[in-house]
Amino acid sequence: MTTPAVAECLVCGKETKNRCSSCAKAGIDLFFCSPEHQKLVWHVHRLFCGPGKANPWRWPLLSPDEVQAAIATLDLVSVTHSESKTLADQLLRIYNEPRERLPDIIRSLSGPTGLPLDYETSALACVRMHAHFVRGNNLKNDGILKPSPPLEILTSLRLSSFLYCFRDDPPPWVTGYLHRLSIFVALLTGKTYSDEQVKYLVNSIDGVYRYLDTVAETDPEGARMVEGGFRRFLEKFSSRPTAPSGRM
Ligand SMILES: [Zn+2]
Ligand SMILES: [Zn+2]
Repeated sequence: MTTPAVAECLVCGKETKNRCSSCAKAGIDLFFCSPEHQKLVWHVHRLFCGPGKANPWRWPLLSPDEVQAAIATLDLVSVTHSESKTLADQLLRIYNEPRERLPDIIRSLSGPTGLPLDYETSALACVRMHAHFVRGNNLKNDGILKPSPPLEILTSLRLSSFLYCFRDDPPPWVTGYLHRLSIFVALLTGKTYSDEQVKYLVNSIDGVYRYLDTVAETDPEGARMVEGGFRRFLEKFSSRPTAPSGRM
C-alpha cells in the first residue's frame, strides 16, 4: 500500500497532512489532525509509538502488577480459543519447561525476553487474555466493576480478530490494523465520554472498516476473516455507543 500525503485523522476523520512523527520514523504513517487528537489517544498510543514498538508491532512487556497477578492466578481456569485451561497449562504449551519454572518464566516476560517475536507475542497474549477472563469472572462473582485495562481489551481484540492465525508470518497490513484497533481502544477507555468523544469512537470504528476495505483489494480473504471477528467483538459491546451507521 502506498502512503498518501493526505489521509483521515485516526480520531476525528478529518483530512490532514499531519502524522505522528516518531511513528513515521518507524516507517508507518499514522495521521492525527492536531496535537489535541493525538493526546486523546496517547495513553494507549504511547505503548506502540515510534521505533522498536510501532512497526513491526511489538506488545509491551508485562508490568510488575501483571507479573504478580499472573503468578497468583496460574491455576485458575480461563477460556481461550473456546477451551478451558489454566494459565499454567497454556504457558506450558508454549514453553517446554517444568511446571515449577513458570513463575520465573512469567517474570522473564517483564524484561527483554530473547524470544522470537511470535513466541513473545503468544506468551504475552496468553497472560493478558487470562487476566481479562479472571477479571470477568470476578465481576460475575462479586459484582464489583473492574474494567479491563486497555492492553487486555486490545489483546482480546487480537484474539477475536483471529490475528493469531497469522502468527508466524503476519502480512504487513496487520500492523496498520492493530494501530487502528489501539486508537479505538484508547477512545473506548478514555477518561470522559463527551458527545464529541462518542463521535470519535464511532469514527475510529468506521476507520477500522475503511482500512479493511483497502486491505481487501489485495488480501480479500484475510480482510474478510479479520473483519468478521472485529464485527463479532463489537456485537458483545452492543450496549455501548459503538455501532457505526450502516455497517452492523
Ligand atoms: Zn482529528
Ligand atoms: Zn506514534
